[in-house]
Amino acid sequence: MILIDGKKTSQDIKNEIAARVAEIKAEGGKTPHLAAVLVGNDGASQTYVGAKVKACEEVGFQSTLVRLDSSVSEEELLKVVEDINENPDIDGLIVQLPLPKHISVDKVTNKIKPEKDVDGFTPANVGRMTLNWPAYVAATPYGIVELLKRYQIETSGKHCVVIGRSHIVGSPMSILMARNGYPGNATVTLTHSKTQNLAEICRTADILIVAIGKPEFVTADMVKPGAVVIDVGIHRIEDPSKKSGFRLIGDVKFDEVAPLASAITPVPGGVGPMTIAALLYNTLQSAEKKVFG
Ligand code: NAD
Repeated sequence: MILIDGKKTSQDIKNEIAARVAEIKAEGGKTPHLAAVLVGNDGASQTYVGAKVKACEEVGFQSTLVRLDSSVSEEELLKVVEDINENPDIDGLIVQLPLPKHISVDKVTNKIKPEKDVDGFTPANVGRMTLNWPAYVAATPYGIVELLKRYQIETSGKHCVVIGRSHIVGSPMSILMARNGYPGNATVTLTHSKTQNLAEICRTADILIVAIGKPEFVTADMVKPGAVVIDVGIHRIEDPSKKSGFRLIGDVKFDEVAPLASAITPVPGGVGPMTIAALLYNTLQSAEKKVFG
């Protein structure tokens, strides 16, 4: 069984990005610049944005953090996005979610210039990805694709079952696995909350991608021996034996599924660490005008 190491892979990607940034700077080019907009004081959001800003420093990017009060109006936020859209020094723009209830996520997302949409959330980038055009692919699907690539997992002609159809994970993953390319060319079954006989369908999967958001939902009886298992779920559960008082588990019951699998991502240390690497990669692509030309 191969343990797919997302922590190491994400560090490899960050090192590659840092090396490229050093080259750009040595050639006298512009330093890639990511702007993050954070609305309100949500603890988790502050942690995520903080980690993104720190990662920018690590690879030599410039970063700008725009903090807005949770009482900011939708109009004011749209104006902030517009100003960043028009700022030629900024290559990538992310608006940290969730947003306060009085602000429409769709409106804000749609305001982001697709050329700077390094989260890959705008309709333009989702459409481009679907058409197999150059696109900013959302962080989690990008991270999974990169893990499959770097571990040289064969996908062509395989049966890939995806559990979950969210816009940020399951749906894009199903599109990427079915497209004509590598990784891709799989026969894909996208399952969701209305799917019948889920366990039976999962047992036919050569590649099982789980993004259901239910702790340890996938058990050994749902997995074909030799399958590749990608666990996207992250859940914090209490564990008094840990100093922090908690530990992280995934959507897959790792201890019983791992011995059956030919390759599997652990939680933590699998898909999770890849997200920031994906964001940095997309920002570098934008700085180098690789996606939209
Ligand atoms: P979501 O809640 O938006 O979607 C869950 C999906 O599971 C839905 O499409 C639903 O139809 C499906 N589902 C629910 N019950 C089902 C059932 N009984 N059978 C089949 N399908 C069922 O979740 P999400 O945003 O895609 O996230 C999924 C998990 O991944 C969560 O644990 C989340 O925390 C985690 N996550 C991790 C990362 C990462 O970087 N590793 C990124 C995003 C999400």
